[in-house]
Amino acid sequence: MAKGSIGVTTNNIFPVIKKFLYSDHEIFLRELISNAVDATQKLKTLASAGEFKGETEGLKVSVSIDKKAGTLTVSDNGIGMTEQDVDKYINQIAFSGAEDFLNKYKDNANAIIGHFGLGFYSAFMVAKKVEIRTLSWEDGAKPVLWSCDGSPEYEMTECDKAERGTDIILYIDDDEKEFLEQSRINTLLNKYCKFMPVPVVFGKEQEWKDGKYVDTDKDKVINDIEPLWARKPSDLKDEDYIKFYHSIQPAQDDPLFWIHLNVDYPFTLTGILYFPKIKNNLDIRKDRIQLYCNQVFVTDSVEGVVPEFMMLLQGVIDSPDIPLNVSRSYLQADRNVKKISSYITKKVASRLEEIAKTDVKAFEEKWNDIKIFIEYGMLSDEKFKDAAAKFALLQNTDGKYFKFDEYKDLIKGNQTDKDGNLIYLYATDKVEQYTYIKAAQDKGYDILLMDGQLDIPFVGLMEQMNEKSRFVRVDSDVVDNLVRKEDNKEAELSTQEREIATTLFKSQIPEIEKSEFMVTYAAMSPTAQPVVITQSEYMRRMKDMSVFQPGMSFYGEFPNTYNFTLNTSHPVVKKVVDQAVAAVSDELKPIDDELTATNAVIKAIRDLDKDNKGLPEDKKDDLKKNEDKAKALRDKKEEIVANYAKGQDTVKQLIDIALLGNGLLKGEALNAFLKRSVDLL
Ligand code: ADP
Repeated sequence: MAKGSIGVTTNNIFPVIKKFLYSDHEIFLRELISNAVDATQKLKTLASAGEFKGETEGLKVSVSIDKKAGTLTVSDNGIGMTEQDVDKYINQIAFSGAEDFLNKYKDNANAIIGHFGLGFYSAFMVAKKVEIRTLSWEDGAKPVLWSCDGSPEYEMTECDKAERGTDIILYIDDDEKEFLEQSRINTLLNKYCKFMPVPVVFGKEQEWKDGKYVDTDKDKVINDIEPLWARKPSDLKDEDYIKFYHSIQPAQDDPLFWIHLNVDYPFTLTGILYFPKIKNNLDIRKDRIQLYCNQVFVTDSVEGVVPEFMMLLQGVIDSPDIPLNVSRSYLQADRNVKKISSYITKKVASRLEEIAKTDVKAFEEKWNDIKIFIEYGMLSDEKFKDAAAKFALLQNTDGKYFKFDEYKDLIKGNQTDKDGNLIYLYATDKVEQYTYIKAAQDKGYDILLMDGQLDIPFVGLMEQMNEKSRFVRVDSDVVDNLVRKEDNKEAELSTQEREIATTLFKSQIPEIEKSEFMVTYAAMSPTAQPVVITQSEYMRRMKDMSVFQPGMSFYGEFPNTYNFTLNTSHPVVKKVVDQAVAAVSDELKPIDDELTATNAVIKAIRDLDKDNKGLPEDKKDDLKKNEDKAKALRDKKEEIVANYAKGQDTVKQLIDIALLGNGLLKGEALNAFLKRSVDLL
């Protein structure tokens, strides 16, 4: 019997492993089974190189529990180890600075295990004693029993193992008894070993007999050794992909489509990514893509491996080039991982382009389900943006779809303004903005429907991507001004008429919470609406965007400022303004005269201070007095007009109709409107 001390520089590696690697104890099973799988794969390699002449059928890994003995055993019939092998691979785990490293990464078992190739030693996280019974494939090899109770001392002797391969026997620690539970092991095997490339056996298949389930003598294989992603796409049917999808993502609708990834240069990667139905719910769950390394489950948190927007997809990625067992920050900095990330992006984009090209109709039908994914991708990933510009679609309010270029061509003729800007008109709510949409359509304009969750920032992105283009919401200006073809027609009102009309209307607009109105004028067509309420694109978009950008949230607090635009060509507007002017002119005349005189005095005083050196005190007082007087006169004028306006039902009716058209007339004001309407009848 040989005795020895395990070759680590730190004397007490096992207590350290046990004590510090508390977070991920369960991965010992993955490590041991991966080793066992490797051992069987190695035998196959030896066989194909002609070195191993025996049978390679029936290679497998078995896991068993003996509750009475308190052991969990992982067995394989792979290459096995000679005494020299055990000495070399198991006994000599030499590394330096171990303790420092362990202390630094004590919360991240994966990092430590990967760093030191401590795979096998992770058994000591759950076992008080570990035995290896192994017989090498080599001719004349003697079976070896290695045993270690968690101190750095081990024993090695010959034993009676008759069959080639290795048994790793774990004497499970008292406080790790969960690993002797069949259900716990089942769960772990399902998590880590479901797709390992060699059959992993755990227990027996059961059958229903005499009113209960009993074991048959058939081994129960818990894994699928040739998962779909490892097979040739040409051998697979749609049903296969859909079935596989449901096996990894239970309780979901069928996927919209999928991408089978398969590269072997400059790195090896296979996988299948599915497009689920996402609709308008931007719910990024970080566990929908599973990462495998040679069919061994690594993680389902793929942040950093795939771009954020890709995390809306589901499926599996398998690459031997993704470093196993390393910390997340390490993973993100890894060059291979970066390459993989951009490869996946490219591949997804080109697959989408292909689908968009070959089956336009199907792509359009699915557009609303994938739109959020594509917009998110375009907003967050420069490369994807450029690629997606070729296949992304725009939908208009009539439900028709266009590629970007097609749409440009469609609107170029009619929607280019006097400065050569292409104006994309859009609506965010087909029902609420109906009147504006209709008015714009009547002018021959086409209107896009931008009602998606990301459409607001997307509109901004489109403007950046297309020079000399602007997106303008249909209700952001009166229809004649949406696409300015020539300089504005001056409204046909004198200054005095304007002044009176402004107060006439402004004084009668009801108080609406968080809303402000500015009365403006436009000479529209006499058949257009008499009053149009609009909200300028700029301010509204700032407010809309504030939802997406935390730093801008103060915009959201601003009141909504509406333009209350009077159509000065409309006969009813003309009539009420003319009547008002006629009714109040006489009363205003003397006040106006006085105001003119006062303003002249103010100007004269100000002129005394041409070089801005400041007025002498007495002149300052004088100025103030006259300014107050002018203000009082203006207030008086407004009061006269407002008093008159109070009795003008037509004015109120015009206001309310416009508010109603914008969903702004509510509560008491709505009630008053209804009552007045009936009275007018
Ligand atoms: P790694 O697997 O990262 O090399 P491990 O500590 O898990 O590190 O294993 C060390 C070595 O021990 C392996 O590389 C292999 O040569 C040998 N080994 C471990 N388990 C087995 C096994 N079941 N059969 C044959 N050799 C094994």
